[in-house]
Amino acid sequence: MGEEGILTIEKTEGRRKCPKCNEEDKRMIHESLDKETIINDYPKMYGKKYRCGRCGCEWREK
Ligand SMILES: [Zn+2]
Repeated sequence: MGEEGILTIEKTEGRRKCPKCNEEDKRMIHESLDKETIINDYPKMYGKKYRCGRCGCEWREK
């Protein structure tokens, strides 16, 4: 599993949308835990990543 496929983008104001195809339908944007990004050690907290159901693009927000 390579990390190369994941984009990192600036957190956007307002609606979240796919950085590649601009999909902004919430039902098409799947949120999941990003185990590569630890935002707190104790308690363990992970960042989030998103995947677009339309083009398959994955990204995380800064
Ligand atoms: Zn997309």
